[in-house]
Amino acid sequence: MKHVSILGSTGSIGTNTLRVTSSFPGAFRIVGLAGGRNICLLADQIEAVGPLVASSFDEGASLELQEILRRRGYPLSGTRFVHGQEGMTDVACHPEATTVLSAVTGAAGLLPTYRALDQGKNIALANKETLVMAGGIMMEKARERGVEIIPVDSEHNAIHQCLRGARRPEIRRLILTASGGPFRQTPKEKLARVTREEALHHPTWRMGEKITIDSATLMNKGLEVIEAFWLFGVGPDSVDVAVHPQSIVHSMVEFVDGSILAQLGQTDMRIPIQYALTYPERWPCPLPSLDFFRLSKIEFLEPDRDRFRCLDLAYKALRAGGTSPAVLNAANEVAVDAFLNRGLGFQEIPSIIASVLGAHLPEEASSLEAILKADAWAREKAGELAAAAPRGSY
Ligand code: MG
Repeated sequence: MKHVSILGSTGSIGTNTLRVTSSFPGAFRIVGLAGGRNICLLADQIEAVGPLVASSFDEGASLELQEILRRRGYPLSGTRFVHGQEGMTDVACHPEATTVLSAVTGAAGLLPTYRALDQGKNIALANKETLVMAGGIMMEKARERGVEIIPVDSEHNAIHQCLRGARRPEIRRLILTASGGPFRQTPKEKLARVTREEALHHPTWRMGEKITIDSATLMNKGLEVIEAFWLFGVGPDSVDVAVHPQSIVHSMVEFVDGSILAQLGQTDMRIPIQYALTYPERWPCPLPSLDFFRLSKIEFLEPDRDRFRCLDLAYKALRAGGTSPAVLNAANEVAVDAFLNRGLGFQEIPSIIASVLGAHLPEEASSLEAILKADAWAREKAGELAAAAPRGSY
């Protein structure tokens, strides 16, 4: 039996993870759950799996959660209730967990994921920000502890599959596919006026709000370029991006002999989640086979780097190295939050990130402290710029 803790259990990846684990009765024991503000869903999950430890957003949420469960007759004594960042770390480090599925959004996932690695737990990683911020430290820790980081992100999961049995010198390049997001065909002059609702309408994947906006700006692909750099040890010039609106080819690897391997499948996150949880084995999946004859076409297009500036900003941060990717990530989180909640114009997102990156003097990303310091600096700077920036037109 595999013993799993889930960070971010009430999000899109977390709920899909529980769908996967519950489809194999007796194969998984869910040791810990860390959810956020959705207390009712977290209560349902706790009732269903009976974790040893459960963490929620803050103390108030934890008390409310326990009250809901008490009213439902759930035996509270079997679960330890914790909260906040420390609570999430308790879930990540529970001694009985051997695998931690890390699916918290944003920088909040960094420390708990690092602590879990340090405790020698295998990581099924959906939180790409962790590698964007501190890829060098995380990969080094995984090597030191002899544990695996298996990507859940569909593109990296695809590449991981294509690279089974391959050696690093055999790789010519990685090709990350991108759906292109909801504004793939939106003219540049209209992008400044797109609304929150339009940006949240992703054509192929149903995901959380932050990652959906990142998909609309192509920053998601930019973050994924950095993620691929750390996971697979290839240089920035060996990671390419191809827009592929059908999202059927989840990514590809080109080898030095010109052969290209691609991983294809349904656009359903249960497939990469299951792969990450069962690796190195492959278990049967209840999803129907991909029907080739119903695919209208498979297209590949060059990304428009002029309309979607975030992609090149990510390459720039990766090449600058050190604390630059952490700064890129922090500025992006602040700008996306301002777009979602304070009416910031859509095209102000790349402008703010560019300004913050331009003002940053990168330092060596040699410790989590140095990275978190750069993160805090970038958040403050981006916050000031977002407050002064033009609003969107809605
Ligand atoms: Mg992805």
